[in-house]
Amino acid sequence: MSAPYPWLEPAWQRLVSASRQARLGHALLLAGRAGFGKRAFARAFAALLLCEADGAPPVACGHCRGCELFAAGNHPDFLHIAPLEEGKAVAVDQIRELGDYFALRPHYRTTKIALIEAADTMNRSAANALLKLLEEPPAGALIMLVADRPSALLPTVRSRCQQTPLDQADPAVLLDWLLAQEGAADAPRELEGLARAAGSPLQARALAAPQVAPLIDGLAPALAAVSTGRLAPLAAAAQFAALPLDILVDQMLRLCHEVLLLKTGAPLPLAALGREAPPGLQGLADALHSAQLSDFVQKAQEVKRLKLGSVTLREVDLAEWLWFDWQASAAGHPVDAAQR
Ligand SMILES: [Zn+2]
Repeated sequence: MSAPYPWLEPAWQRLVSASRQARLGHALLLAGRAGFGKRAFARAFAALLLCEADGAPPVACGHCRGCELFAAGNHPDFLHIAPLEEGKAVAVDQIRELGDYFALRPHYRTTKIALIEAADTMNRSAANALLKLLEEPPAGALIMLVADRPSALLPTVRSRCQQTPLDQADPAVLLDWLLAQEGAADAPRELEGLARAAGSPLQARALAAPQVAPLIDGLAPALAAVSTGRLAPLAAAAQFAALPLDILVDQMLRLCHEVLLLKTGAPLPLAALGREAPPGLQGLADALHSAQLSDFVQKAQEVKRLKLGSVTLREVDLAEWLWFDWQASAAGHPVDAAQR
């Protein structure tokens, strides 16, 4: 095993052999959903390229000069750029640093690496600053972009990168890994966690945290209670106040999507591994019309956009809107049973 996580092994083998056959471009785009191990993958690959061990080790040796400098965060041929604050964008000044960095030749070997995390958050000036480098890459430069949403990158940036998609995985490998982790639950529960995390194992671990998982368990019943008037939106918002807004929106959207699948008779995600519909979902599928669900999906996506784009709106207010939106969507489009 050489990749940092077992599900990334095929991508690791492809990238390492491309590098050994000198088929690596000057820029790599490591793209895939959040919680899939992209950053660990990028760092492990950078470490391998900077390792000075003899031969062709499958992973960085961990004890040569290059590996020790890398582990200490002091390697002069590695620059790691990430948003200064969690959830914020990479700033244009951070991208401008790259110019100075690449102006110097590599210190030790022939490669000089920059890793840009959350590259999809760059604004247009940052992207344009990066584009200049991508158009005329210095000799020996390797720029690795990590992005959850590659479609948000400037097309001109995207087209200059070698694409390395990191979102394909055998669900059975993901489930095996989750079951081997400390504090793992049984297979049906881990499978449900994987579905909640849209197939991202690291995200599944985060959502399984003791303060988060019970709230997510209660979400489908709460949606049903609000839709039938048994629970007021404000009371629901208070009940789920401990859930970060991002998780709340994503989980509501995920449930809507699964209810829509149930309504059409389509299999739920990961059904091939034996996942069953969570309790309460069928009740929502029976009670709600597809148009009501689609209406809410649009409103919830609007809340996501508002959260990203605004510094003044408070998460607590947006969460309350979300529950009012749900109530309104569920109350709208009254239909009789025959139309459902
Ligand atoms: Zn080494």
